[in-house]
Amino acid sequence: MAQTDVLLLNSNYEPLHVCSLVRAVGLMLKGKVEVLHQNGHVITTSMSEFRAPSVIRLRYHIKRPMPELRLSRHAILARDNYVCQYCGSGKDLTIDHVIPRWRGGRHTWDNVVACCRKCNLKKGEKTPAQARMVLARQPKRPSYVPFISLPHYVKAKEKHEWLQYLPNFEGVSSRA
Ligand SMILES: [Zn+2]
Repeated sequence: MAQTDVLLLNSNYEPLHVCSLVRAVGLMLKGKVEVLHQNGHVITTSMSEFRAPSVIRLRYHIKRPMPELRLSRHAILARDNYVCQYCGSGKDLTIDHVIPRWRGGRHTWDNVVACCRKCNLKKGEKTPAQARMVLARQPKRPSYVPFISLPHYVKAKEKHEWLQYLPNFEGVSSRA
């Protein structure tokens, strides 16, 4: 995220969007948002001087439908917090079909997990029970889907002051 990016929250603190500083200031001047965090930089206009916002919250609620989360490699890794669901490693991640596809395992949220190459090799074409491997948790479709796009969401998580406003995919935060 660039220094000038601003996290826009719905009135219920749900992350809605990552917008530019210009847009954020526009909303501020119209009185549509409340500033929750500033980024420490000072903006000088011909009229005044004020601190640049980093997180802003709408004063009114925007209704939005739950976005569809496409089952992609990226989405599966994000759901699993970028750690192997068998050993907890964050290295060399790939996707594992818990019930192998050739045994009829499907490519669905409840049958795919993030898995490191080492565990993937060890597991091979077996089920976890056959390979004597234990999943950190049962995979499932995330019930919380970030409204901001997934790449934005993942990058936004790197910003320290934004973290508290970016919920984990549900059921993912408590990893064993
Ligand atoms: Zn592993």
